[in-house]
This record gives sequence, structure tokens and C-alpha cells, in this order.
Amino acid sequence: MQRIEHMYINGEFVIPHGQEWFDLHNPSTEEVIGQVRLGDALDTQRAIAAANAAFPAWARTSREERITVLQSMHRAMAARAEELQEAIVLEYGAPAVRGRWMATYPADVIAQAIEALKAFDFEQQVGMAKVILTPVGVAGLITPWNSNAGFICNKLATALAAGCTAVIKPSEMSALQTQVVLRALHEAGLPPGIFNIVNGRGDVVGEEIARHPDVAKISFTGSSTIGQHLVRAGADTMKRVTLELGGKSPTVVLDDADFQAVMPLVLQAGFLNSGQACIAGTRILVPRKRLAEFERIAKEGMLQIKSGDPHNADSDIGPMVSQKQWERVQDYIRIGQEEGARLLAGGEGRPEGVHAGWFVRPTIFTDANNRMRIARDEIFGPVLTIIPYEDDVEAVSIANDTDYGLSALVLGKSPERCEHIARQIDSGRVLINTLAHEPSAPFGGFKHSGLGREMGKWGISAYLEPKTLVTSDPLK
Ligand code: NAD
Repeated sequence: MQRIEHMYINGEFVIPHGQEWFDLHNPSTEEVIGQVRLGDALDTQRAIAAANAAFPAWARTSREERITVLQSMHRAMAARAEELQEAIVLEYGAPAVRGRWMATYPADVIAQAIEALKAFDFEQQVGMAKVILTPVGVAGLITPWNSNAGFICNKLATALAAGCTAVIKPSEMSALQTQVVLRALHEAGLPPGIFNIVNGRGDVVGEEIARHPDVAKISFTGSSTIGQHLVRAGADTMKRVTLELGGKSPTVVLDDADFQAVMPLVLQAGFLNSGQACIAGTRILVPRKRLAEFERIAKEGMLQIKSGDPHNADSDIGPMVSQKQWERVQDYIRIGQEEGARLLAGGEGRPEGVHAGWFVRPTIFTDANNRMRIARDEIFGPVLTIIPYEDDVEAVSIANDTDYGLSALVLGKSPERCEHIARQIDSGRVLINTLAHEPSAPFGGFKHSGLGREMGKWGISAYLEPKTLVTSDPLK
């Protein structure tokens, strides 16, 4: 049983003023495996003050100085990958393959920020003006539980690359992962105050960050509801905001696709991260005239998808992160049936033979329509919905008939036709016949999926304010 008592302010581990202890669970067994002491508003104010004090000196550092600091962050995170993987599997239940990726991603994403910084233009000549991109100030970085370490490192590396200092509020449910990241960053010997971490509740620590006048910018990854709230809460102090929010991503299977060949991509896209992924392809659009064939192949494919102990190499899907999340997924499996969709695979309850842990049965509905709640709401679990369409025009119209627009997948034989469809889909990212990730391209959402972009030069720009200098010859 781990007890995590300290937060991190001005380069030191400190005991919070906040008194509340929060239980951490192993979702595979439902057991309490640790406790974290939560910070309060006063702790948050201390962290903001430290970041604010460190800002002027950090904002003046050169590109080379920032790269040196980011390189030590990178080395320290890479050295902790194994320890991080253990924390991810234990605390979050990520299946082994996914857990390995999530454990190396924090170092990878820091390396990507270094590359983006090397190439970034902080000054540009525009006509007679010199445009100087200057850091906005203290950044409040708020992360979700479904990839806590990766989001901390991505947001922090990008903010530091831009010359901002940071106060981080990680997900309170991910304190073991945060602790591994924190130890690594401490060992990296970063200048005191440039990053500060306060474990705490969203409605306490998160709210204080959102209202505090010394926080200039918020970068938030989480649900659309909290994202909308942060825009409102930040308006009084005119905060800059980057929001990475939810999704209900379409997988558009075109009528010329080889269903056997594309099925692994369809299922991987849908069940990514046990279905607990913002980019999961949860709406599968299938040509009505080939629906029966698609259903047969999907059913066969589902026989290969195993939901079980994340330590087993053959588990594709781990447990849901919490009892609340498990119940939410169960509710939606019930709702789908009540709405008249047909269960092709899976259903309510735990997988056969599993008696403990927040495991669910990988589930696919078919014969659904896009008005159903299972087609509109982000379920955040391994529940997919097949929606038949008549022609390409209707496929695009269903794909776009959603509040979200984070990611989409188009599958078909002809690259030209796939691209023609992809260009019509309102989404921050559209993948064609691949699930590959391009880290130097912008990532973010249309509509309720977010505001602004992360990654690459777009990510760094989001922490900068353009300042225009116009000069003329000295007055005579
Ligand atoms: P959440 O919105 O409940 O919480 C996210 C973070 O916000 C947590 O740290 C939480 O403590 C904090 N928070 C809660 N209330 C707050 C408040 N009033 N003020 C400030 N902060 C507050 O989301 P979650 O359940 O942790 O994560 C799942 C959600 O995140 C899903 O909707 C998913 O789609 C989204 N997500 C999006 C992306 C993306 O890149 N677009 C990536 C991962 C997850």
C-alpha cells in the first residue's frame, strides 16, 4: 500500500496544507492499493506563486538552454519507463501492449517537443514589422486519467519549450503514475519553480487554477463538459485556453473495402486503450448492401478480442478505470438494447469466468441509427455501434452528424476515393487505411472535441503571444 503525501513546489517535495486522503484502486481487483494526500486552494496558490516567480528568468532563456533542460527531462523519463509501466498497469489496468506504449510515450513526446523547438521561428519579419512570439506566462496544465503521464510530459515539455512555467494538476486517480513522473523530473534537476505539481480534486485545485489571475493559459485534456466550464471560468481573467476533449469518432468503411483485411483496424480503432480513448472509432459506418457480410466477419474478429487480466500478454482489453466507469458502460449496453439496436457480440455483465475487477464484455451493436444515444454519447468503454448507410453522401452526412470532431478513419480500396471522403469529414484528424500517429502534425478537435491544437509547431504556438515591433529610421 503506497501513501503519496507530497506535492512538488519550487523544486521541493512539500506536504500539502490540504488534509484529505484519496483512495487509489487496482481496477483489476477493485482493491485499494494506495492513498494520495490532496492539495487545496492554498496549496494551489503556493504553486502558482512559485511558477510566477520563476517565469521572468525562464522566459528569457535561449533556445539552447531550453533544449538542454528538455534533454535532461527526456533522459530521466526514458530511464523510468519500466517503473512507469508497472504503475500504469497496476493503477489503470492498461493491457500489456498498450501499457508498454504508454510507458515509453512520455519520453518520446519530450523528444518530439525538442525537435519542434529546434525548428521553431520565434521571430519573423512581416513587411516593415518584426513579429516576436513571446511566452504567455504561467500555464495551468490539467490532465485526465486515461493517459496521465503522457499528457503531463507533452504539455509540460511544450510549455517549457515556449518559455512558459507551469502548475500541473494531474488526474487525482493517477497518483502512482504522477509520482513516477515527478521523481524523474526531480532527478532531471530542472530549475526550481519552472514546474510545480499539485495533486487534488478538479473542483478544488482545478478551479483555483481556472480562476487565478496569475495563470495566463490553461491547457486541459478531459471531458467536454469540464472543458466548456473552463472556458467560462477563465473568461474573467482572459485566459488563453487549449482544450483536448471527447470524441465519438466515425470509422467509414467504403463499399469497395476488403472486409477481412480491414477488420483488424476497425476493431483496434474501436477498442483502443480498452475503449477508454478520446480518439476511439466507436461509430462504424457500413454500406447497407454489404451489412450481413460485415457482421459475419466482425463476429469472427470479436472471437479474437480478449477482455481480462492486463498482465496477460493475450489480453486486448483491460478493466474500466473505476466502478463508476464500469457502471456507466453497463448503462449504455442496456440503453442500446432498449433503443432497439441488436447485440452482435458482448452484452451486460463481466466476461465469462471473471468474478472481480471492473471488466466488461467487448460489445458491438448493429442495426443502429445515428439518433440513438449509443451513437451520440461518448461511452468511454469497449462498446461499438455499427450504423448502416446507403451511399457515400449518406456516409459523410452520418460521419459529420455529431457534436464531436476529433478523429476519423476511412477504409477503402481506392486512395483517391478515400481522400475525397476524408476531405469532407469535419474532424481534426482523418486517418486513411492506417492507425499511424504523426507527432509533428497538429492534434485537436473540431466542434465539442476541443479548442486549439497540440503537437509540433502548433503546440508551441499555443503558449505564445505575438508582439509586433514596427520601427522607422530615427527621427531627425
Ligand atoms: P474529466 O473532465 O472528468 O477530468 C479531467 C481533469 O479535469 C481531471 O484532472 C479532473 O480532476 C479535472 N477537473 C474536473 N473538474 C474540474 C473543474 N471544475 N475545474 C478544473 N479541472 C477539473 O475527464 P476524465 O474522466 O479524467 O477523462 C476522460 C475524458 O477525457 C473523456 O471525455 C476523453 O474523451 C477526454 N480525453 C480527451 C483527449 C484528447 O486529446 N482530446 C485525450 C484523452 C482524454
